[in-house]
Amino acid sequence: MPVITHSRPSLGLPEFRSVWAVLQSHQLGAGPWVRRFERAFAAHLGLRGAVAVSSGTAALHLALLALGIRPGDEVLIPSFACVAVWQAVRVAGAVPRLVDVEPDTFNLCPVDLRRRVTPRSRAVIVTHAFGFPADVRAIGRVGVPLVEDCAQALGATDHGRPVGTVGRVAVCSFYATKMIATGEGGMLVSQDAAVLARARDLRAYHDKSPDRVRYNYRMSDLAAALGVAQLGRLPQFIARRRALAARYRRAWRGLPVAHPVVAPSTAPVFYRYVVRVREGRVDRVVAAAAARGVTCARPVPVPLHRAFGIAGYAGAEAAWCRAVSVPIYPALEEPEVGRVLAVMQAVLRRVA
Ligand SMILES: *Cc1c(COP(=O)(O)O)cnc(C)c1O
Repeated sequence: MPVITHSRPSLGLPEFRSVWAVLQSHQLGAGPWVRRFERAFAAHLGLRGAVAVSSGTAALHLALLALGIRPGDEVLIPSFACVAVWQAVRVAGAVPRLVDVEPDTFNLCPVDLRRRVTPRSRAVIVTHAFGFPADVRAIGRVGVPLVEDCAQALGATDHGRPVGTVGRVAVCSFYATKMIATGEGGMLVSQDAAVLARARDLRAYHDKSPDRVRYNYRMSDLAAALGVAQLGRLPQFIARRRALAARYRRAWRGLPVAHPVVAPSTAPVFYRYVVRVREGRVDRVVAAAAARGVTCARPVPVPLHRAFGIAGYAGAEAAWCRAVSVPIYPALEEPEVGRVLAVMQAVLRRVA
């Protein structure tokens, strides 16, 4: 039986049609589809505007520059996050400062954030881990400008508000495994016209003031055509992910694992279904599932405090020692879902 991968995009007729239309137009560069994707994305979040770019990391970089982050400034980021976040801060010339996460929700801990803020802190990047909204109200009260990283949480809400609408600026990624996929791609959104104008100006080189450093972070019309089609299907994708999550929770009740924690005010989108096994059992669970054809993974391969050898992140450390991500995505066919349910039931009972 073929292996069930950890992620797989959902591509169908809407994607084939819109990409075909771009090919027929013989216009591959940034054009009408990019503008259409930007408008649809901004409208989706109810924000003033959006700037499409070539990746989520590029969007983070431009977000920091648009906020006026300068070399030597400090940017706070969660330790239980992928290295792209650290990279974006470094590319902007700023100094990343790690903040611990809550070991049960995996999201940035507002109490630890308050402890780590210094007079040189100029921004905090909040990832909504695995599709679960972080507590941006509490984080906002710390008083550092907020960048929301919605790469894993597009469509999730807290108190009825979509993630990405609270911070000064928000970013998204459309990498092949994300909530919606264009292969590579990203977006910056904001309500602030000046932030949008600065990001738009820096996105591509142009003839005006040629000596100013700008980037080639453009999105192509091919990617944007995929994005428009995928965004239209996002509500179905989310409904399917939530339905799968409910089935996993029901089927694995009573097993020795902790299920994802859903804060009462939030509606997560289950970008990942991350269970917590007994400490130190992660590799064994992943190996046992792989032996039965189901690809599980650590949801963060190596947390940043580990990657850089920095002590003092007990929450992120506990998360890393227990978190196992189980395949959950709308492209899973019903027979595959059945296999995930059965295989993980056996694996979690015996190995977790
Ligand atoms: C994927 C991801 C990124 C990076 O996006 P790319 O498009 O791969 O550059 C940044 N932050 C988070 C939280 C992500 O999940």
